[in-house]
Amino acid sequence: MTFDIAIINARVVVPKVGIVNTNIAIKDGKISEFTPDAVQADRMIDAEGLYVLPGAIDPHVHYGVYTPIDKAAESESRSAAIGGVTTMMRMFRLYGSYKQKLKDHLDASKKSHLIDYSYHASILTPEHVNEIAHCVKNGITSFKLYMNLRGEVGTIYMDMEPYTNKMISGSVNTDDSLMQSTIRTVVHHNGIVMVHAEDPDVCAREMARGKSEGKEGLQAWSECRPSKSEHDSIAKVSAWARQDKCTLYLPHIGSSQAIDSIISERKNGANILVETCPHYLTHSTDFQNIRGKVVPPIRSKEDVARMWQAIKDHTINCIGTDHVANRLDMKMGDGDLWSALSGFPGIATMIPVLLSEGVNKGRISIERVAELTSFNTAEIFGMFPKKGTIAIDSDADIVLVDLKKEQKVTPELLQSYSDYTIYDGMTLKGWPVLTMVRGQIVMEDGQVIGKPGYGEYIARKPKSHGN
Ligand SMILES: [Zn+2]
Repeated sequence: MTFDIAIINARVVVPKVGIVNTNIAIKDGKISEFTPDAVQADRMIDAEGLYVLPGAIDPHVHYGVYTPIDKAAESESRSAAIGGVTTMMRMFRLYGSYKQKLKDHLDASKKSHLIDYSYHASILTPEHVNEIAHCVKNGITSFKLYMNLRGEVGTIYMDMEPYTNKMISGSVNTDDSLMQSTIRTVVHHNGIVMVHAEDPDVCAREMARGKSEGKEGLQAWSECRPSKSEHDSIAKVSAWARQDKCTLYLPHIGSSQAIDSIISERKNGANILVETCPHYLTHSTDFQNIRGKVVPPIRSKEDVARMWQAIKDHTINCIGTDHVANRLDMKMGDGDLWSALSGFPGIATMIPVLLSEGVNKGRISIERVAELTSFNTAEIFGMFPKKGTIAIDSDADIVLVDLKKEQKVTPELLQSYSDYTIYDGMTLKGWPVLTMVRGQIVMEDGQVIGKPGYGEYIARKPKSHGN
């Protein structure tokens, strides 16, 4: 039998199994066979000296905010391909009705992704709660609450309408009743509730104080959005989730206090899944650059060490980037902490950061990288075993990585709409050299060869997450 592609001499990282020396045969976009014997294929890839990872899934991507989704899907999935990401999950933030507008976004998405993708839906209004069933019908089973948005700290940029150029700013008022009704409704549909856990009252008060005192820098930013507020918000939402037997997913966890709160709420019986982001593993408030402004903030060096520890001891389930595809001139505002925007790009550097700062520095194994960036993510979001592993009949979503390859990071290398990165100038050791989505090579040696429109929408089915 002749296959479409064969990867030979591969050291394959199979989550929960280990590293397997084998040849991989691929046909019709699926993994077809593992064999120690010679294989015939139209395209032979020699993986000598490389590791083969299951394609990374980025569960936390903001795109479609500063450019419309039809453009953003193309630029950001291109950047994803550079970074070995084969499935990206849009943190969809719709100003308006899902019943009226979801279809437009899904249609525009279809024509422009180079890699596979899926959607989360943000619940910003009581009307949105009534549209959860509509979202589930359309393959969305995870819903985000912005506990941090209320009153004077409630205004954010929403996703743009497809095929337009107008940014949309809107106000969100997440109160207890919105959160509780969302939790109840999502549980009814066997979905997951994702919560941005910060206290808007504490943040508003402390930010007003910091601003009036003329504070500057990332240390001030961290103080004005204290990690105690994350801690208490996690405790508050966990109590509701426990009552309703709801699975909580806590994105962008980056502080010791948040981790402490999660550990104690889990002990109390809450079912909590935890995501951290690469920047909480690499940057502390010593980073003297406002481009590192993000919510929740980057914290201290001790917090960074604690996040690595929480990865090692399995407190953390997966990594998401919280990628925001913005440009530096807009990001920086008037150049001060208070007018700068939160968020920065990160989708292309997730795997390089984990390989460089994790595997090559002896902090974590390459098997753990595959769990954190693919296996666990696919499981949590109902995409396993189609995604998340390297197994017979799974999609041939594969990344070849070279642990010895060193590269200095530049924005040009990452090919996003964003023209900057917090890793600019940093040399990272360990890079994807080939990215394959369903048996099609989309990136080889840093050259993106994927085509917009190839990426497929992953409609997800609800699954129950019993405690
Ligand atoms: Zn958030």
